[in-house]
Amino acid sequence: MRAWPHVVIVGGGFAGLKACHALAGKPVRVTLIDKRNFNLFQPLLYQVASGLVSESDVASPLRQMVGQAPNIQILLGEVVDIDPAAREVVFNNHRYGYDHLILATGSGSTYFGHEEWRPLAPPMKILEHADEIRRRLLMALEEAEQTRDPERRRFLQSVVVVGAGPAGCELAGSLIELMHRAIRRDFKQLDHDLCRVILVDAVERVLPTMHPKLAAAAAQHLEGAGVTLVMRSMVKGIAPGRVALEGPEGPRELQAATICWTAGVRASRLGALLAERTSCPVDRGGRLLVEPDFSVPGHPEIHAIGDLCAYHHTPDGRPLPGMAGPAVQMGAWVAAAILARSGASTAASGSGSLAPFRFTDLGSMAVIGPFYAVADLRGLHVTGLAGWVLWALAHLAFIPDTENRISLFTKWMWQIATRQRTALLITGRPDQHIGVDVGLFRAQLEPQPEPEPARDQPAEDDLPVAA
Ligand SMILES: Cc1cc2nc3c(=O)[nH]c(=O)nc-3n(C[C@H](O)[C@H](O)[C@H](O)COP(=O)(O)OP(=O)(O)OC[C@H]3O[C@@H](n4cnc5c(N)ncnc54)[C@H](O)[C@@H]3O)c2cc1C
Repeated sequence: MRAWPHVVIVGGGFAGLKACHALAGKPVRVTLIDKRNFNLFQPLLYQVASGLVSESDVASPLRQMVGQAPNIQILLGEVVDIDPAAREVVFNNHRYGYDHLILATGSGSTYFGHEEWRPLAPPMKILEHADEIRRRLLMALEEAEQTRDPERRRFLQSVVVVGAGPAGCELAGSLIELMHRAIRRDFKQLDHDLCRVILVDAVERVLPTMHPKLAAAAAQHLEGAGVTLVMRSMVKGIAPGRVALEGPEGPRELQAATICWTAGVRASRLGALLAERTSCPVDRGGRLLVEPDFSVPGHPEIHAIGDLCAYHHTPDGRPLPGMAGPAVQMGAWVAAAILARSGASTAASGSGSLAPFRFTDLGSMAVIGPFYAVADLRGLHVTGLAGWVLWALAHLAFIPDTENRISLFTKWMWQIATRQRTALLITGRPDQHIGVDVGLFRAQLEPQPEPEPARDQPAEDDLPVAA
């Protein structure tokens, strides 16, 4: 294989994994580098946060997914630099050469310049975030179960979700169902009617990118389930247990033991780094403005795909949304383009060249509660149970691992039948670490001082939140 072109793919998410699949068994050497050893199905993170399914139901080891192909090598490590002149990436203190580079490092969350809010209101981008949200909520409910003070109990039973896009609506809908119904029999002392989920956003309505009719249906369903909607309200400050808002009626403050953040997205920092190294322009969200073939200007051998790129070469000139569908299609197209360029495939067009990239929009959907979803299928609007069935089928079809497909289906059916959640575990407490039992000093378990930051970038969004 030494004579074959070497394709390095950084990031095994939706886009990178698809590219990897498309290159498996083809006459190219592929190295997939990811800082995690698994592929994560982010659309179902809210189900991990609300204890509906567990971590391994929404994540699969990369080695099992693509590692068996003889031409694919998988390496664990975080790429921290790129040298376009030498055609090398830097990770784990190595420099690693490539002929073609596919960057698919995705995006993280942003607090719009208020990084100090991050530990107080965890985002929902990686498994650790979902675990943290679940841990905070369950710890608050456990304390409420033992609290006599009604004011304190009300506080402990309150959740604020910032951001009324699909992820925020899905999280809010699932948390209210959890608190009002799923744990009704388990927590004997809680006053379940006091459980509150407040969904906050600065925009006019929930699901602002979806059709107004679907947004109205989603809002009505959320309110019917008990979620309080606070729209047109800008978050001005977050302190422990408090969210300060500026709304149409002036300033107000919400108090809740659990605060979650689903409000802003920013491209992975590798985008800014590559922009620095190649002078590739970026948009306001830090996404690389790529050429029609996803290459970086002046570097036909470097491609940026998925959430990392802003792709404006569409019929209406509007950039493709940062969603799984575009990411997957970009991954497949770029893989085919590399094969076509290296003369490895003529199958795509029959002539050795490839038709330009065209995104096929299959629509968007959001699940708002049990048996209730809203779906926009290229102008066909579906709500309620029919929407939920479509949502469930689409997600089962889309999740890349068969074992996960089976376990998700089983857990959803179990939840439908019993209203119980199988993954309501409180994990991630260092004070419960096995080290305590084997005699480690507690001091050894205390958080260590932060090491000096290696880069002058703000904290990457997808770092685990402080416990
Ligand atoms: C909570 C949530 C819900 C969502 N719901 C939906 C939905 O319902 N429908 C939908 O279409 N989209 C949804 N999305 C968006 C969708 O998940 C993203 O658009 C998609 O994941 C983008 O794919 P990607 O391959 O670009 O990046 P990702 O899937 O994020 O993959 C990036 C990969 O790069 C790795 N990586 C990052 N930096 C480095 C580095 N420096 N070195 C090595 N590896 C690195 C990461 O570990 C990760 O594996 C949701 C997103 C979130 C967060």
